[in-house]
Amino acid sequence: MSHRHKKRFGQHFLHDQSVLDAMTAAIAPQKSDIMLEIGPGEGALTTRLIDEVGSFTVVEIDNDLIPTLNKRFSDRPHFKIIHQDALTVNYGASISTSEQLRVVGNLPYNISTPLIFQLLESRHRITDMHFMLQKEVVERLASPPDGEHYGRLSVMTQYYCAIEDLFHIGPEAFDPPPKVDSAVVRLVPYRTLPFTAKDELDFASMVKQSFAMRRKTLRNNLKGTLCGEEIESCGINPSVRAEVLSVADFVRLADVLHDKKMIKE
Ligand code: SAM
Repeated sequence: MSHRHKKRFGQHFLHDQSVLDAMTAAIAPQKSDIMLEIGPGEGALTTRLIDEVGSFTVVEIDNDLIPTLNKRFSDRPHFKIIHQDALTVNYGASISTSEQLRVVGNLPYNISTPLIFQLLESRHRITDMHFMLQKEVVERLASPPDGEHYGRLSVMTQYYCAIEDLFHIGPEAFDPPPKVDSAVVRLVPYRTLPFTAKDELDFASMVKQSFAMRRKTLRNNLKGTLCGEEIESCGINPSVRAEVLSVADFVRLADVLHDKKMIKE
């Protein structure tokens, strides 16, 4: 194949068949699945999954890859290409089905975090997501409280999803090899959230403020928002750092902030 890899599209194509085997096994495709792949490239993962599922849609930005994808897969009536920037797709509306989607992809690393947040907006339509990402991003997504990689991304995604760091892959599995290690992650949006904030915007702003300065205590980061007594009223010591708090702790803090705002109004 003569495709010239484009750096700006994060093109590192998987060629290690054992990694493709492991990804396919983790995804465990079913005939009833309606699957969406982000960034199919030349179709290394696509070809493993397409004949195992009921419907397969790919979202690919690169003009030069569309003929290859058409040539390989357009004989399948259940195959569809969305030739678009994945960050501009309305996932809730663009796939004409009322059923649940399964989302997969070896994602371009530069768009992975905003894309996950965008997909989370359509989480009610999504059964699960399996992504190959930069290893550091997977470690941040899946980290438990007080872990080395725990931070705002962990809390915001773990509020909505159960997350598993499945396995790690070295650069040699890709062509061309990236400069970083990769990992495969599974995100399963909760049908019912384990902890529900009264207002999700207050929750997001509480998490952002709490982690504003990683080395500072909660009392310092929340100055002007919640006082020491208000933090204590959540059963939380104001002298700790945000990195030791669980999702449930952030929800309690956000709810105190919310109640305080309601009283003021
Ligand atoms: N899935 C293929 C594989 O594993 O060999 C390719 C993976 S490569 C890391 C990322 C793919 O995402 C490329 O095909 C690239 O063109 C595509 N891509 C990059 N940015 C994109 C965007 N904003 N929207 C849709 N596709 C994008």
